[in-house]
Order: sequence, then structure tokens, then C-alpha cells
Amino acid sequence: MNSPHVDSVAGFQSTVTRHLQSRARGCLLLGLCLPGLSCANALELPTLMVQGGLIIGRSVPPARIDYAGKPLRVAADGSFLIGIGRDATGSIVVHGRFPDGSSATASVAIQQRDYAIERVAGVAEAMVNPPPEIARRIEREQAEVALARQRDDDRQDYRFGFSWPARGRISGVYGSQRILNGSPKNPHYGVDIAAANDTPILAPAGGIISFARSDLYLTGGTVLIDHGHGLSSVFVHLSRLDVGVGDRVEAGQRIGLVGATGRATGPHLHWGMNWFEIRLDPQLLVAPMP
Ligand SMILES: [Zn+2]
Repeated sequence: MNSPHVDSVAGFQSTVTRHLQSRARGCLLLGLCLPGLSCANALELPTLMVQGGLIIGRSVPPARIDYAGKPLRVAADGSFLIGIGRDATGSIVVHGRFPDGSSATASVAIQQRDYAIERVAGVAEAMVNPPPEIARRIEREQAEVALARQRDDDRQDYRFGFSWPARGRISGVYGSQRILNGSPKNPHYGVDIAAANDTPILAPAGGIISFARSDLYLTGGTVLIDHGHGLSSVFVHLSRLDVGVGDRVEAGQRIGLVGATGRATGPHLHWGMNWFEIRLDPQLLVAPMP
């Protein structure tokens, strides 16, 4: 799913001049772009980021920042977000243009990860491939969630960092994949926290509720928090929802209770994060589980 994104970046990279890239490396941010001073170095990115990571880039505002041939939302303070997919390779290349007419290019090398792959044979066929009417329902529900993830608000609720929405043993990690009867299922795009039924789930950061449904086929009680700039959190298998679409929530506010609704084998909290359609690893945004 993420590979077209990466391919377009590679194409984009070949069109930018190399000398601009070297000028932008290791740059210092001056804080503002004065007349007569070049803004070409006013673009700052980490040099390396792992798959599933979130890049918070910085630029001197006002700047136009392009990635994969499209302009990114740039905050008033010049910061911008880019998510890296599970299977992204190569590098992320970002191009900035500044009011004095100068421009800069910076890149982030993508560090590969090893994901656990589990092959399971002899699973009942109905479990591996759901019947057509169920498949249609799943598709319809996933399209609704995908639509909520397209939201691109100017809010920067991600700015203050993230905390664990619940505490417990980590029972599933980002990126792992099961292959049932030889057919690869979707990788696990999130972190699972083992917790008892009805344990409170706390918003890991502030935001606006962009999706809230108690009865999805696969994920049961499902809540999305939009943190701004295309960054969203999803919480699934909830036994109860305490929020509705459009609600404003603050970091640490209860949004619902842990459950085992939808296709869950037992009570746990599945926490996923997205930058638009790109699935991120929430564990990269929080301190180790206390
Ligand atoms: Zn999970």
C-alpha cells in the first residue's frame, strides 16, 4: 500500500539538483528568514528514521514544503509531519521553498526493521477468507475509517507528545504478520496492551474524535482521535465508548473501556496510529511501558 508513495519520492528525488541537497544537510535554523539572507538552509529533518516512524520536520516559516510531489501542511511555527510506512525503503526526500526565492532539499534515510512472520497451516477456510457478504461489510466499514483518516486539521495536538492509553503487558507489536494456509494476512499495525475488561482507556494526546462506532465487524468498539496534520490514533475492541464524533478530548481524558468486541481472542487494547493512510508504530512515540 505504501510503495507507490515511496516510488513517487524516488522519482521526485531524481528531478532535484544535487548541490541543493548537500547545502541543506546539517543546517541550522535561524528562526526567521530576513531580507537579504538566504533561507536555503532553513529545513531540518532527522538524518535517519525507522520504518513505522513519524518525522517531525522543521522549517523557517513561511515555507512551502513538498513531499512526494505534493505540498505538506506547514504549521505557523514551520513544523510539518511525514509518516514512514512499514515496508518503506530508501529515503524520504523533502523540498522546501522560501519567500526570498531560495530552496532546499533534505532527506531522511529509512532504516529497515525485522518483523516477526508466523506461518500457520490447517486453518478453517471460512476464517482465512470470509464469505462475500461479510467481506463486503468489512470493506464498507474500512472505507469509513479510511475517510476519517483523511482529515487534515491545522491543530498541533501531537506537539506535546504521547503517553500510553492503558498499562499492561505488551502482547502484540507493530509489523508482525501471520500467513494462514499460505495466504498472507494484513500485518499487525499497532501495539496490543493486555488489560482486563472495562479498564479505562485514556487519550494519549489531545484531539478531536473523528470516528466512534461500537459495532464494527473486525474491530468492534472503535474510536479514532485526530491529533492534527493527518496524525490519528485508533483504539479498537472497546467494551464501551465514552466519546462521540466531533468531541474535543484532552490528553489523559477517558475515551472508553477495554473490551474484546469484534474479532478479538480476549480483552486487550489495540492502539494504532496513522499519518493519513500510512500506518505508524505507536511504540516509537511513547516512553517504554512503565
Ligand atoms: Zn492488535
